[in-house]
Amino acid sequence: MKKIGIISLSDRKSGFQTGHASTRRKTNILLKGPKNVKIGIPRAFYYHSYPGLWECFFRRLGHEPVVSPPSTQATLHKASAQTETEGCLPQKLFDGHVLSLIGKVDAVFVARIISIVKKYNCCPRFGALLDATRAGIARGVPLIPIEINETVAPLSKTLMKLARTTLGADTKTAKLAVKEAIEAMAQHHREEARRQREQTPGKRYLLLGHPYTLHDHFIADPMIKKMAQLQVPVELMSFAGSRHIKPGDILWCVFNQMYHKLHELDTQTYAGVIQISTFNCGADSMMADRFRRVCRQKGVPYMLLMMDEHTGKAGLDTRLEAFVDSLSWQKTGKAS
Ligand code: SF4
Repeated sequence: MKKIGIISLSDRKSGFQTGHASTRRKTNILLKGPKNVKIGIPRAFYYHSYPGLWECFFRRLGHEPVVSPPSTQATLHKASAQTETEGCLPQKLFDGHVLSLIGKVDAVFVARIISIVKKYNCCPRFGALLDATRAGIARGVPLIPIEINETVAPLSKTLMKLARTTLGADTKTAKLAVKEAIEAMAQHHREEARRQREQTPGKRYLLLGHPYTLHDHFIADPMIKKMAQLQVPVELMSFAGSRHIKPGDILWCVFNQMYHKLHELDTQTYAGVIQISTFNCGADSMMADRFRRVCRQKGVPYMLLMMDEHTGKAGLDTRLEAFVDSLSWQKTGKAS
């Protein structure tokens, strides 16, 4: 592995320790000079909110991005032994992904995210992620940090700063990396939109959740597979084009988008809504009731499925079967 002069940007002297004015102060330079540094990207949280972006960005700057493998029970086991017990399930999975990268890469990329949509906030856990990682499971491990706060600066500017100040790239290379990375993400979003347009016609179920729960193999895959086995079409809530969200009283960007999706749900297209929630998510428990009410007003059946580290497949299957069966009985007027 390379010997590189990396320090965690959450180092108190670096000026990156908070999301406020300190981020604008001069910071220490990380990775000055070396190319082809192995940069570990945990396949969790912000990886799913910016599909395709990070790999392209680091590769274009001459580094080697290494994305941790998809989540499994082992990812969680690994984290459970070391992580904060009160954390939500996605936080534990994130820690598991970081642990799976340690020792295999030169540095781990960890984001502190305040806002991914201007004037809308993310869960506070995202704001604490960098410090929590540095002080916890990645203590002493070189980190490459970024702070994303779209309310203060657009993503392109933040990426530019990471490329120039933190990774020491020249202006031309940095500009190209930013441009291509944003285009790579846009391409992913276009692909996702196309897949949704081409979905099999007929009524389907909407799977509602965060990008990092819907696209996590450990959390969502068992449900998606079960629905396929029941021959029920599902659509995953899409956050493509999520930078343009509708105004509303919900200032958490992801929940705002879910709310608007439900509010505008076409009852001819959707047979039901299944919200995937994860253990110890305070935000989900606050919003679930509101989502349930919107669905009730629209006359769309709604079910909340809570996933935790011990959720058994049998229990999950039974609940999905019961939900789907009860709706088909409603339609046909008889039990099968
Ligand atoms: S919104 Fe919930 S699941 Fe997501 S990071 Fe916050 S507490 Fe965890």
